[in-house]
Amino acid sequence: MKVYVMVGAPGAGKGTQAAILAEQLGMRHLASGDLFREAVREGTPVGLEAKRYMDRGALVPDPVVIAMIEERLDRQDAAAGVILDGFPRTRPQAEALAVALARREAQVDAALYVGVPEDELVRRLSGRWVCRASGHPYHVVSKPPLVTGICDIDGSELYQREDDRPETVRARLEQQLAPMYDVIDHYTELGVLVAVDGTQPIAAVTEALLRAIAHPARPAGRSEAA
Ligand code: ADP
Ligand code: ADP
Repeated sequence: MKVYVMVGAPGAGKGTQAAILAEQLGMRHLASGDLFREAVREGTPVGLEAKRYMDRGALVPDPVVIAMIEERLDRQDAAAGVILDGFPRTRPQAEALAVALARREAQVDAALYVGVPEDELVRRLSGRWVCRASGHPYHVVSKPPLVTGICDIDGSELYQREDDRPETVRARLEQQLAPMYDVIDHYTELGVLVAVDGTQPIAAVTEALLRAIAHPARPAGRSEAA
């Protein structure tokens, strides 16, 4: 099983790129945020627990996140390969993922870091609309849907996530950037990190990621954007 992980700040374009890559590479896109939002909607115990943290822009505690992802890795539809989006977000999560994958004779083949400066993250999150059915992301300026308020892909209604309000966006950036850099260090140490310039247009970011995946021998941490 091939495993790629998307790394990036809230709003960097992880979900956008993971969906495109999954489609092009025939892999499964697994987004931790989508799994949590589904659990919240269904009112499961995990959902009730996670909501308390998500509403504050905080990270859900590692054990809750790890258990949820492990359960998903065991499902048949991940066997073709999986692109993890939004997980791991802390070093303990990255270490737990390594153990879980090793048990399945797999490993993280590449960690794809999409780098975007903070002011652009705020612009992206404040203009983001996602679809009800699958969380497909749009942006009022940079990626408007063909028909206002409707998902191009599945026709479901678009809405603004509660945690994309300005005060929660600030809290997310304040709390989530430092652990993200720990994850980047972890994958740099393992020699599987590739970094691309996430400020480019969506298609250019995809191209850079595909190039990076096609040349896995790239020295650790070398930036595609440099
Ligand atoms: P974004 O991609 O916009 O940063 P996500 O949809 O990935 O947001 O996540 C939404 C929220 O769900 C996060 O702010 C956090 O509260 C929670 N969450 C998602 N993934 C994780 C994770 N791996 N660890 C801890 N919390 C998570
Ligand atoms: P993440 O999953 O990292 O939180 P998303 O993929 O949801 O990020 O993207 C955040 C917002 O930025 C969305 O509104 C999306 O349409 C927009 N976006 C994504 N990639 C780009 C890009 N390369 N240029 C401009 N806007 C983008």
